[in-house]
Amino acid sequence: MVIAARPTQKVKIGQTKLLINNEWVESVSGKRFETINPATEEVICDVAEADKDDVDKAVAAAKTAFYGSEWREMSARKRGELLYKLADLIENHKEELARLETLDNGKPIAESLNMDLPFVIETYRYYAGWADKIQGKTIPISGSYFCYTRHEPVGVVGQIIPWNFPLLMQAWKLAPALAAGNTVVLKTAEQTPLSALRVGELIIEAGFPPGVVNILSGYGPTAGAAIANHPDIDKVAFTGSTEVGHLIMEAAAKTNLKRITLELGGKSPNIVFADADLDKAIDGCHNALFFNQGQCCNAGSRLFVEEKCYDEFVAKSVERAKQRQVGDPFASNTQQGPQVDREQFDKVMHYIESGMRQGARMLCGGHRFGDRGYFIEPTVFADVQDEMTIAQEEIFGPVMSIIKFKDIDELVERANKTIYGLAAGIWTQNISQAHAVAHKIRAGTVWINCYHAFDIAAPFGGFKQSGMGRELGEYGLQQYTEVKTVTVKL
Ligand code: NAP
Ligand code: MG
Repeated sequence: MVIAARPTQKVKIGQTKLLINNEWVESVSGKRFETINPATEEVICDVAEADKDDVDKAVAAAKTAFYGSEWREMSARKRGELLYKLADLIENHKEELARLETLDNGKPIAESLNMDLPFVIETYRYYAGWADKIQGKTIPISGSYFCYTRHEPVGVVGQIIPWNFPLLMQAWKLAPALAAGNTVVLKTAEQTPLSALRVGELIIEAGFPPGVVNILSGYGPTAGAAIANHPDIDKVAFTGSTEVGHLIMEAAAKTNLKRITLELGGKSPNIVFADADLDKAIDGCHNALFFNQGQCCNAGSRLFVEEKCYDEFVAKSVERAKQRQVGDPFASNTQQGPQVDREQFDKVMHYIESGMRQGARMLCGGHRFGDRGYFIEPTVFADVQDEMTIAQEEIFGPVMSIIKFKDIDELVERANKTIYGLAAGIWTQNISQAHAVAHKIRAGTVWINCYHAFDIAAPFGGFKQSGMGRELGEYGLQQYTEVKTVTVKL
């Protein structure tokens, strides 16, 4: 591990107010809260804090926009053009947005710039292309009738996003919703409000009508809960913890049966067979776990390795983890920045202690890195047993748990023994075995000889308590439409 000692670059901070009806306003209460730079623990700035009253205002604006003529009667192609324009504006401000993301979230600048931002831009462009291709069917029903379907927008959509990929989660939420003609009230995570607000400025510049997109900074139990409980919100799209996913569903059930899509936690099995190309598997499994400081819902966090190659895999994985460059997220060679905040840092350290206490073998890392910022050393545990807490619960940090397996029949059962079902990885040269195992794993995404292979066109989402519904691709778009059947007597 190397400390990258370059000073944090100056980053321009944009808007810090709430975006309601294309205007930047202070919160009704006048309250503001601080956002922290996780690499230095210093306050970056404060932002307006939305609560229920602000959610009410934003929902009223979104409702007016939804039922008003400007957005409703805008042609689908024109909606697509606005999204293309937004994508262009984001591309023109790519470096600035990447720096803001790295400042607020702590992720390495190389990743903000070369991974998050290109995917964000692709997301807006992909759904821009869909806007004028959302179409129903004509249905040959019995009798003298003409029957057809329309795929209409759901209405006012509440969107609640997490802090691990702030710009990307904003794009995954906004782009399909707007392509389909909905209006939106989006709440960012308290840890990372800044980049979304800058995109808000670009949304106005792109020419979206007032009220179509409203962006609120604020806390989950206040602003977030107000969105989940709002009777005038027709759908909530949420990404975050499974725990809060339960609350969102409960709120929807208690209020107006609003539609919900949930993208929640995971504890994804990543399975290495002895016949795999071992060096590629070691590299792939390293990235599957450590990418984004381990803060990925789909992280390959239960690493099952076949007994025949276990010792070699463990030894090489430890060497690989020790090479990981931790430090200043603004240094171009940094691979791992800080965890997003003090709470996440403490939680991860607690899991490391629990692994040691329950008898897993810690082979590297295990400590705080440096004495400032929420950095944690890349940590590898071997001899992890299925029932240990670190093999059961979502750690959301740079902690690899390597588990041994011998019996392939038993493996599938062990891999599926979790409340989650978000993703899985399989590493093998045996193509039949790869597909056979892929079909038996209860998860929304299975990667074979790769991991984190995301594409805007490929659906993503969870089985079991990893969520409901899908994001991305055509499947993601469907979640933002209602089907209307129209029948005419001939
Ligand atoms: P979280 O509480 O689920 O946060 C996700 C979003 O939900 C944030 O915008 C949050 O607001 C909001 N929220 C919180 N409580 C809410 C409520 N009662 N009603 C409506 N919205 C609410 O997650 P977290 O506390 O940041 O992280 C805890 C764990 O969740 C992590 O350790 C990780 O295991 C998991 N997680 C998963 C993902 C994912 O991509 N699936 C992302 C992040 C975290 P505020 O943050 O502003 O309060
Ligand atoms: Mg922050």
